[in-house]
Amino acid sequence: MPISRSEMEILTNQQQLDAHIKHRLLAEEAKEPNSTGHCISCGDPIEEARLKVSPKATTCIACEHKRDDERDRKHHFGACR
Ligand SMILES: [Zn+2]
Repeated sequence: MPISRSEMEILTNQQQLDAHIKHRLLAEEAKEPNSTGHCISCGDPIEEARLKVSPKATTCIACEHKRDDERDRKHHFGACR
């Protein structure tokens, strides 16, 4: 039985999806440890100790804390409503 047109389309979509997922996974892996060792937020060098604990850190401790604070505030406001 020949493959119907819709089946062909499903197969093609599946292949595209696979390629897309593979591409995404490769992109994830390409996220190397922060090679410059500088904060992407403020540009300061990231503390060596921090890079040792999390080599993929892209922000310094100060900026990381700032981000946490903002997240906490948002969370707090959300809980108040
Ligand atoms: Zn910073």
